[in-house]
Amino acid sequence: MKGKIKINENACKGCGLCVTSCPLHLIHISHRINAKGYNVAKFIDPEKKCTGCTLCALMCPDVAIEVYREKRVEMRK
Ligand code: SF4
Ligand code: SF4
Repeated sequence: MKGKIKINENACKGCGLCVTSCPLHLIHISHRINAKGYNVAKFIDPEKKCTGCTLCALMCPDVAIEVYREKRVEMRK
């Protein structure tokens, strides 16, 4: 299962709970500062490792993370 997440930067408080919750360490606190003055979380997944497990979204107290999942379809030759 492939996944990806979208972080709503304006809702993020930079608490870091999502950072510690991701088993694959795909989320980091960035240098970007949102309108409320918080350093926001950033999803970095160049190798497309995210499984869409939803742990990060469940941990976020501000419901700032949306998770998208994509079923991998095997093509028959
Ligand atoms: S959905 Fe799971 S694997 Fe993907 S970023 Fe969130 S915690 Fe990490
Ligand atoms: S858990 Fe939510 S509020 Fe906290 S850093 Fe992650 S996205 Fe931002």
